[in-house]
Amino acid sequence: MTIRILGPNLINQIAAGEVVERPSSAVKELVENSIDAGARRIDIVVTDGGRVALSVADDGHGMDADDLALAVQRHATSKLPGEDLENIHTLGFRGEALPSIGSVARLTVTSRTAGADSAWEINVEGGAVSGPEPAAHPPGTRVEVRDLFYATPARLKFLKAPQTERNHVVDAVRRLAMAHPGTAFSLSEGERRILKLPPAQGDLLSARLDRLDAIMGNDFGANALPIEAARESIELTGHIGLPTLNRGNAQMQFLFVNGRPVRDKLLHGAVRAAYRDFLAHDRHPLLALFLEIPPQAVDVNAHPAKTEVRFRDPGLVRGLIVSALKHALAEAGHRASTTVSSAALGAMRPADAPRTGFLPRQPAGGGVPPSTAGNTALAEGAHGFHRPLDQADHGSHVTTPSAPEAAYQADEDEHYPLGAARAQLHETYIVAQTDEGIVIVDQHAAHERLVYEDMKKALAAGGIQRQALLIPEVVELDEAAAERILARTQELTELGLAVEAFGTGAVVVRETPALLGEIDAAGLIRDLADDLAEYDTTLSLESRLADVCSTMACHGSVRAGRRLNAPEMNALLRQMEATPHSGQCNHGRPTYVELRLADIERLFGRR
Ligand code: ADP
Ligand code: MG
Repeated sequence: MTIRILGPNLINQIAAGEVVERPSSAVKELVENSIDAGARRIDIVVTDGGRVALSVADDGHGMDADDLALAVQRHATSKLPGEDLENIHTLGFRGEALPSIGSVARLTVTSRTAGADSAWEINVEGGAVSGPEPAAHPPGTRVEVRDLFYATPARLKFLKAPQTERNHVVDAVRRLAMAHPGTAFSLSEGERRILKLPPAQGDLLSARLDRLDAIMGNDFGANALPIEAARESIELTGHIGLPTLNRGNAQMQFLFVNGRPVRDKLLHGAVRAAYRDFLAHDRHPLLALFLEIPPQAVDVNAHPAKTEVRFRDPGLVRGLIVSALKHALAEAGHRASTTVSSAALGAMRPADAPRTGFLPRQPAGGGVPPSTAGNTALAEGAHGFHRPLDQADHGSHVTTPSAPEAAYQADEDEHYPLGAARAQLHETYIVAQTDEGIVIVDQHAAHERLVYEDMKKALAAGGIQRQALLIPEVVELDEAAAERILARTQELTELGLAVEAFGTGAVVVRETPALLGEIDAAGLIRDLADDLAEYDTTLSLESRLADVCSTMACHGSVRAGRRLNAPEMNALLRQMEATPHSGQCNHGRPTYVELRLADIERLFGRR
């Protein structure tokens, strides 16, 4: 056995294995260098997704010939003036990006300092350095990387299609651009402009919102809640999207620690926890969160790519995020995102008329399955969520408030955000008139949410009130189902439902949750037994509260297919306004859609 010290190029290539995974990681390192150099504008160009070439040019402070020669050396950095890693204020500090890139690609760095009258250029090809030599270049630095991984063919094989690599580059640039709104960014592929972000003006928060809008789209700007919270010396700012604005993946979640984009399990976990009550497991909110934390309280040196961090007090950070987000979501109250109504409007555009046209009347009592009948685009607009309504008796009754006091009350109600109930359609939808338009409420979804919020509150306050049934109700089940229910009696009692064994294969219900009003206890028990068959037996019912509540709400007093009178409808609207999170049901579907008069007028070509 012979142990030898590896040559410098091999060492750099080994480091490159971690620092430069693909073109986007090279772009990320170079843009970070430009930001550290105080650049006000950064221009990035890629060819073939960065596989053939990529370059980053900035107007930062530049380097002279001596610095250039050092910059491409391993462990050479200008960013650690002291001897400690506890006080890092720059994005870079490891001094290994340029030498790593130089060891696996053809690298050219051209740079000029502000005061100098000429520029210098240095070349590194597979680790061999030539230069520096005089060159022509304005103040600032331009780094060009060609034939990435030509010197490490094994790594080259792992590169994906140009389009995939380009998408990674776009993502890396977006993240850095969000954290540095005052700097102008452009990204092109050949002649094609992919991103162009002018420097955002104003104070940090407003500049940042402009930048977020430019990157995440106006939908985000219009449907985002500002976050501003602090605990001890940690500060959290940013914007989070309303739950009804959600996606199938977490790609629109941007997290930053001290201006550094990170992908951190702890942070993502905290976000998931904060939204848990408002989104199905497979839906993800849009957000950008910026954590400012004293450098001593966070270790950014957890991985060479610097995208993971370790917090000295993870619990504190998690708590801050969860509570700040929950608080903001609660303040949003009944607000549902405007995308819901634009999706609805998009679906209703006259051009779509043939598709949304008149449908043959359903046979009486046959039920109208809304997910298949009628407007498919509208259903998709609500994110494809739809649950067939109960097959209850759906005629085409329209209930209109008729009592004089109801009408009077209704006018008063108009000034409320969700307006005054004017009609109930298909015994499922409440149509209300507001100051500025109309609101259509899915009474079932809304009620489900209200029940959920009530139960949560009651649980937190020490338990859910039970109401004794005048005559206890015996529910016949099969043996297995009865056992499943009886195994959970303790928990069910806490949730307001008192059940006992009644011979084999049957249970008797003695008390039901008071907040549900009069319910179909037998139906509820049967459905809960079915639910329990699906739930993980190790999970508490409280952790499945959303699911339990939707089952309970289904058997509660206000469900789809029940006719409501005007005071009942208005009471539901007022309750929604007063209840946090009532803009979406327990699975992130909207509970109501708002159409503004202006939008309706546009539909009819009046505008
Ligand atoms: P690090 O960023 O960790 O210091 P790098 O290998 O990325 O390591 O860069 C080495 C050094 O080269 C930096 O510390 C910096 O002094 C200099 N440098 C790199 N890029 C630029 C740039 N765009 N403008 C000015 N100086 C730069
Ligand atoms: Mg660097």
